[in-house]
Parts: sequence; C-alpha cells; structure tokens
Amino acid sequence: MRVSTGRAIQSDSRMFTVVVEGLGIGRQRQAERRFTVPFNQLQGLMQSIAQQGGRIRAVLGADGAGGDTPAAAPAPAAPAPKVKAAPSKPAAVSHADVPVNLYKPKDPFIGTVTENYSLLADGAIGRVNHITFDLKGGDPQLHYVEGQSIGIIPDGTDANGKPNKLRLYSIASTRHGDNLAGDTVSLCVRQLQYEKDGETINGVCSTFLCDIEPGAKVKITGPVGKEMLLPADEDANVIMLATGTGIAPMRTYLRRMFEPAEREKNGWTFKGKAWLFMGAPTTANLLYDDDFNRYQEQYPDNFRYTKAISREQQNASGGRMYIQDRVSENAEEIFSWIENPKTHVYMCGLRGMEPGIDEAMATAAAAKNLNWSELRPQLKKAERWHVETY
Ligand code: NAP
Repeated sequence: MRVSTGRAIQSDSRMFTVVVEGLGIGRQRQAERRFTVPFNQLQGLMQSIAQQGGRIRAVLGADGAGGDTPAAAPAPAAPAPKVKAAPSKPAAVSHADVPVNLYKPKDPFIGTVTENYSLLADGAIGRVNHITFDLKGGDPQLHYVEGQSIGIIPDGTDANGKPNKLRLYSIASTRHGDNLAGDTVSLCVRQLQYEKDGETINGVCSTFLCDIEPGAKVKITGPVGKEMLLPADEDANVIMLATGTGIAPMRTYLRRMFEPAEREKNGWTFKGKAWLFMGAPTTANLLYDDDFNRYQEQYPDNFRYTKAISREQQNASGGRMYIQDRVSENAEEIFSWIENPKTHVYMCGLRGMEPGIDEAMATAAAAKNLNWSELRPQLKKAERWHVETY
C-alpha cells in the first residue's frame, strides 16, 4: 500500500446536518433542532450536544441522505464516491456471483415470517428483534451473500394514501440462513420511536416488522449492495465497527468465520484475525453478545471483541463511551493492522461515529508521519475500507 509522508491534514469540505432532540429546558427540551457544519467541526459539535444532554437523532449528508424518519426509507447512505481499483489489479473483494435486484418493488417476492423474537435482555432500552423470512418457492430463488441488504415493503399506505415505500435493511444471516438450509433470510430491526409535539411517533416499517407474527406474508425486494462484501481470502484481517443494529452485517461475517456448523457448510476456513468494536447504550442492549463471547472463547487467537457501552461506561473526558473512544484507545494497534495489506475495515451504523474514528486514525497516522486524509482514499480505492452508515 502506498502511503504519503505529507504532514498537513487536508480539509474536508463535506457538510453535515445533525438532527438533535432534548436540547434546552422545559417545554423546548423535546423540540428537534438541526445544525449544519463542515466535517471538521462535526466531532466538536457532537461533543457539545452530548455535554448539553442532547440526543442525536440523525447525521445527514449535505444532500439530506442518511435521514432516519418514520416516513422516509432508511436506505443506506450513499457511500463516498467509489474509486475503482486500477484495472490491472484484481478487486480485493470478489464481486463475481453477487446477486443484485432479483426482486424489484413492482414485483416483490412474498416471503413468510418463520420467527420474530427480541434480541434484548431485561432492562434494555427500546425494542430490537431478530426476524426470519422463508424464501422458498421463488422463481428465481431469492439468494444473497454476506454484507448485502434486502428491501421490505410494509403493508398499508402512507399519509397521502399511497402504498408504503420500501425500506432497506442489512441482512443479519449468512447466505446459508440461520437454519443452514439456504432458503431463509434474517434481519435485526430496532423499532424507531421518537417524540414529536408531545406525541410518540413509531417508525412505519420498523414497527410493522417488530410486531409481525410468524406465518405473515411480507413483500421483499433485492438483494442489493456490494459495499460491504467480505474478502474471499481466508487469511484476511477484519476490523468491524458497529453501533446498534449496524451489527447485522458483522453478525454474518462472524458466523461465517466462527460458527461451527456454518464453517463446515461454507468450507471457508478463516485463519486471519477479526476485531469487533460494538457500541450499545446498555449491557442489556448488546446484540448477539452470547454468540460473540462464545467465538472469543473458542478462537482467542483469531477474535477480539471490544464493547463501548455508552450509558454505563465513561470515556476519558467523562462523557458517554462511544465506539470512536474505543477506537481512539486502541488507535495505534488498529493503525498497525491497517498497515497490513490483508486488513479490511467495515463500519456500519450511525454516521456520527465517522468523524471520531477519522480523528483517531489521523492521530495514529500522524505519529508515524503519515497523512490519514491521503491514506483513507487509498484504502477505499483498494476496497479495504467499507462504510455503510446512516
Ligand atoms: P442505538 O441503539 O440507538 O445506538 C447504538 C449506540 O450508538 C448507543 O450506544 C448510542 O449511544 C451510540 N451513539 C449515539 N450517537 C453516537 C455517535 N454520534 N457516535 C457513536 N455512537 C453513538 O442504535 P440503533 O438505533 O440500533 O441505530 C443504529 C443506526 O445504524 C441507525 O441509524 C440505523 O439506521 C443504522 N443502521 C445502518 C445500517 C446500514 O447502513 N446498513 C444497518 C443497520 C443499522 P447513546 O444512545 O447512549 O447516546
């Protein structure tokens, strides 16, 4: 990997809008406020919001992408423009045989719910469910690979009386499905809920999914997405950065790497190192935690699991412990992993984690007289830096 020894960190001109609730006092406290700032002021703004007790509902790109409102589809934010690897070099991640758009919104596949259960322990905040759909009987058969998403079209109509539009969700099961039969898909869905004008608003699709009963029929589209594909290399190193339900693709990677029956089925014997950073508000909100602890016990040389539990742990400044704080604590080691050309980084969840992660990497790079703002696009171009955040 070519790296620059330039000293100055270039400025990033992207603008972001941060949607905040809970600032102010009294009746104003619940009102939503929006702040638009350039990328280099984003981290400072978020720290100041956290200090004032505000809750960040969304971080939107300048184009408004990334919104997480109940009426608008929470589709993955458009990732930074993709730089294609030089044609002479093979892609780091294999895109061959990746199915795309087998089913489109006009003619969706009708799947059947086989199970729907809570992933949360007692005392957790909110609702997060694991929901599985039977995909049997499609022509063509709806299939997918790890790192892709599917669309769900919730029943019913929107405020204008038009049929609800699809929402995209990251797939949480490997291509073999949780039952390894190759004919199911699972999602990890948090019910979106927020207060507006003193009223609790429930997300349309997330509520539809969290409430759905086994046996129900659901309109499914896709699969879509090639940003979050795993490398085929069994010796690859994989760093995973997830907040909340952004764990979905990471669960598929980790099952593929470490779940005994899945390993046997896929014939892919992972020999590299994997490091998961997971951000959740409370211990009870950690998702798939028992599985990840089990993988760590079984594969201590191959798997590390680092948690940022925001409302139980504090960062060095006494604020909520976020994933970017854990990245900062481990920045030197993470950076040395990244210097290895076999290492891939995957980020999924809240877009708000990105500036802090960049800052930590910039500091680690600068300690080696390297320039992160030049290095990161090179990693992206080499298909080793994978981001899907809202
Ligand atoms: P959540 O439970 O609300 O939050 C997860 C953790 O992130 C909490 O500990 C939260 O802390 C923390 N957090 C809040 N603001 C943060 C910031 N600026 N930087 C770092 N951490 C922060 O998460 P969720 O509702 O499941 O949401 C996950 C997000 O990922 C949603 O926006 C969802 O749409 C998105 N998502 C994206 C994809 C994708 O792009 N493919 C897939 C799945 C999910 P506090 O609440 O304690 O402040």
